Amino acid sequence: MADELSIKQLTVAVMQLAKEKGFGVKPEDVSVPEKIALIHSEVSECYDAFRRKNIEGKDGFQEELADCIIRILHLAGIYGVDLEKEILKKLDYNKERTWDWNKLNERH
Ligand SMILES: [Mg+2]
Repeated sequence: MADELSIKQLTVAVMQLAKEKGFGVKPEDVSVPEKIALIHSEVSECYDAFRRKNIEGKDGFQEELADCIIRILHLAGIYGVDLEKEILKKLDYNKERTWDWNKLNERH
């Protein structure tokens, strides 16, 4: 594998492994709510690793961040989502967007 891969190339690699391991490659193969829950579980593992100050180790923050992305790429691959396009579109939108931090930081 090359040192640098595009999101599309990473998605192809994730989908290849999903096919080999039987994780599902088509919408009818998977439960989307379950896939979303699994993404969330990786985010929680990431939080827990950070909290435990395990940054670079096995099951550490860095590895769990990668798990999050792998699960997201898998779901994107199943649905043919062009994540590069969607990310760039969202970044463009966010450039023009403003946030009212005072309001966001208010306690309810
Ligand atoms: Mg994990």
